[in-house]
Amino acid sequence: MQSLTTKPHAVLLSSPGAGHLIPVLELGKRLVTLLNFDVTIFAVASHKSAAESDIIQSAMRPNLCEVIELPPPDISALVGPEAKVGTILRVIMREAKPALRSAISSLKSPPTVMIVDLFGTESLVIAEELEISKYVFIASHAWFLALSVYIPTLDKIVQGEYVDQKEPLDIPGCMPVRPEDVVDPMLDRNDQHYFEYLRSGEEIPLSDGVLVNTWKDLQPKTLAALRDDKLLGRVMKAPIYTVGPIVRSLGPAGSKNELFDWLDKQPSESVVFVSFGSGGTLSTEQLTELALGLELSQQRFVWVVRPPTVKTGDGSFFTAGNGGDDLSSYLLPEGFLTRTHHTGMVVPKWAPQLEILSHPSVGGFFSHCGWNSTLESITNGVPMIAWPLYAEQKMNATMLAEEVGLAVRSEKLPTKGVVGREEIKCMVRRVMVEEEGNGIRNKVKEIKRSAERAWKEGGSSYNALSLLAKQCEIICKQRQKMKNL
Ligand code: UDP
Repeated sequence: MQSLTTKPHAVLLSSPGAGHLIPVLELGKRLVTLLNFDVTIFAVASHKSAAESDIIQSAMRPNLCEVIELPPPDISALVGPEAKVGTILRVIMREAKPALRSAISSLKSPPTVMIVDLFGTESLVIAEELEISKYVFIASHAWFLALSVYIPTLDKIVQGEYVDQKEPLDIPGCMPVRPEDVVDPMLDRNDQHYFEYLRSGEEIPLSDGVLVNTWKDLQPKTLAALRDDKLLGRVMKAPIYTVGPIVRSLGPAGSKNELFDWLDKQPSESVVFVSFGSGGTLSTEQLTELALGLELSQQRFVWVVRPPTVKTGDGSFFTAGNGGDDLSSYLLPEGFLTRTHHTGMVVPKWAPQLEILSHPSVGGFFSHCGWNSTLESITNGVPMIAWPLYAEQKMNATMLAEEVGLAVRSEKLPTKGVVGREEIKCMVRRVMVEEEGNGIRNKVKEIKRSAERAWKEGGSSYNALSLLAKQCEIICKQRQKMKNL
């Protein structure tokens, strides 16, 4: 192990996909700039679209961390065609372990700390082998962390499928989780996805600490429960570091294009941005209702459209970037593009989301509530229309709409059936036109300010990261002492 007088060297591990890699890259940058760590990021490659590769490239700038891409292992013999995204990610990360181990051993400077994401918790054994400290970075929020570490307990006490329960699932000290809001791996207790999730729920508390992409003022109650030995602290034994919001920072202004020229001409906070993350797709019927609902709302919009899926509300994570640039193949309603020519912009597949959300003309975000998107919306003071599709997004939507008050949502979950054009029109107008929208806008701006305070010197996230550095050093010293005995 290296001498303690040298710089700490953190090795970060990211699973495939922009939504996973971007927060890891941003965390890496903060470890370099605020704590003066050396950082090496191991990213397991995914075969995503060129647009997504671009966003990853831009998130890598400035080049503060060394990023090493690990080739995606061949898992074709290990998972069937029906395997869920979460299973695929866990299996990929499991099979990538030998490559990670050998890549770490060939680093010029040995690492002192290892930080893995949710799907990489099995690689914590490598940190144990190296006798370095080991952390998990939950790129989502504290309520999700609470459910994840409590799932081994729920597994013992709940009979039958979670989705069939008559009452919400109690998590000590936290808002209960409604059966219809459970995360994807909990939808089927016999599926491998569930067992993989259970395993991560057991592994997270065995780390030396958990970094979570939230901040004290956003989720005070949940964080207190996670730290309380009489509540969730019983299972979440490791310390928690609230290091959020960690969001991508805006790059240098690029050359203007048609989209931004159009946004520049719109009144302040008058445009609703519609996008469902890197993986969200809609059924043909839902796509039609969304188009007509946007049109009926009579509000300006920018919509990132993907070719429809066959199943309602299905988010096909690994293929969502597919589809050509020709909008005629996207099955939009007849005449929609012509009728909305002056009020809306339809962008195929992918758009520079952060740049759009930070544009002064944007006043609402119709979103799948992925946690990166949610944080990008909050940090730009943009209220949301919640349209959760997959992963932990139903919990995110419930938290945003019912606990924090930053979003409106539909009566019925979009994954439960088609939400009609009238309701879509009403949701858009509630945020963009009606008095209710002003209240939400004020609230989101207040939360935005609290997020800014969290990262100022002496703020809660700033302090949490400094504390993490101290704890790393203490653990390092202890392990070195034990080794020298
Ligand atoms: N994103 C983007 N353009 C798009 C779609 C997504 O820039 O057209 C970015 C978005 O800004 C965010 C990330 O991709 O940083 C999506 O992460 P999130 O957690 O919101 O959702 P996921 O894709 O993981 O479901």
